[in-house]
Parts: sequence; C-alpha cells; structure tokens
Amino acid sequence: MRVLVVEDEQAMVEALTWGLEAEGYVVDVATNGEDGLWKAVETSPAVIILDVMLPVLDGYQVCRRLRAQGVWTPVLMLTAMDDDLDMAEGLDTGADDYLAKPFAYPVLLARLRALTRRGLGVRPAVLTAAGLTLDPAARTASRDGVPLDLTSREVSVLQHLMLHKGQVVSKTELLEHCWDPAYEGGPAVVEVLIHRLRRKIDPPEGRPAIQTMRGEGYRLGDGHEI
Ligand code: CA
Repeated sequence: MRVLVVEDEQAMVEALTWGLEAEGYVVDVATNGEDGLWKAVETSPAVIILDVMLPVLDGYQVCRRLRAQGVWTPVLMLTAMDDDLDMAEGLDTGADDYLAKPFAYPVLLARLRALTRRGLGVRPAVLTAAGLTLDPAARTASRDGVPLDLTSREVSVLQHLMLHKGQVVSKTELLEHCWDPAYEGGPAVVEVLIHRLRRKIDPPEGRPAIQTMRGEGYRLGDGHEI
C-alpha cells in the first residue's frame, strides 16, 4: 500500500519512512506543499500523511486544493499545534483525521489503518444551487436533471462557486483553488472559462446562474433572488 508523507523535518521524514516501510507500506516523500500536491495526484497514494507547517504551501492549502481538484484520498493531518481551533480548521479543509505532534507511533498506525479501511476519503455531499446539481466525487453536473458536458476545470470552478453560493468569489481565488499552483496565467483565463461555463450551464432563457460583480469577481445565485 502506497503512502505519501508530506513533511519538511528531516528527522520526522526518516522516522516515518523507516517505520512505515517496516509495516509494508511503500513510502513517497515530499518536503514542501507544492511538491506534495503534485505527488498526491501523480503517485495515487492510498493515504496521505500531511504536515501542517510546510514550505511553499501549508498543509491546509494543500488539502483544500486537493479536494478542489476532486482528489479524495484520505488525509491524516499532522500538527504541532494542539488546540480545537486548528483541528476544526484541518477538518474544514477536507482532512479526514488529525494527529497532534508528538504522537505515539502505534496511534499513527492505527489511524492509518482506519483511514485505509474506510477506503476512499469522506466524500462530499452533492451540491445544489440555481437549478444546478454537482456531485464533487463523481465530477458530474446537471441542470434541471439534464447532464452537463463539463471539463474537469469547469467542474472545479463551478464547484468552488457552488460551495460559496451567494458570495462573491474573486478571480484570484478561483485561480488559486482551481488551477495548478505552478500555473502563471492571469485573471483573463478565468474570464474565458466563466464565459464557456455560462454557455454550457445557462438555459437559453432566464437568469444566468453566475453573475459578474464588476471589479470584484463572480457570484453564483441561489435562483431565488431578483
Ligand atoms: Ca513541518
């Protein structure tokens, strides 16, 4: 079974690698958040051990981006900060479990077993707004029951807008959540995608689902407002 360890402290990386390999896991290591995000997609691990304090992107950002990209691999978040607030934030970003450092090794193994036994990560609920339905796990969307033919990026953007329905979402925020961190394109690429998305999701007549908030970004209405 493959496990991805995203951790920048060398001693911790060595201890985890040694221990996990002894348990029969195949271990991949990333030492910063950006590399972790890439390897989480490329190596298809069964479970990810994700430290919170990381260079480039922190653990919360990595987890949030993975989920935004539709990757639901179980994530066990490691943190040195032991309080309820951090735990709430970790779970809020889509982490499946949380372990405070320092931890006892058998506890880590038990948590990993529980996460992999569960198979896939906790799947998100189906989202609905403005006549649209989106299943984040299946990466499918429909309007009034009619399936929509959307690209993976269009699904990510629509998902982000639906998660924040009624709120203004900036182009920068969409770029951060729905594009690869190494992507260097500007806001224009978001405008092009929104334009294309509207052609696919809006009925020929009636109110557009995505409103442009000039100078601010976009907002997905709930379909009831005027
Ligand atoms: Ca760290």
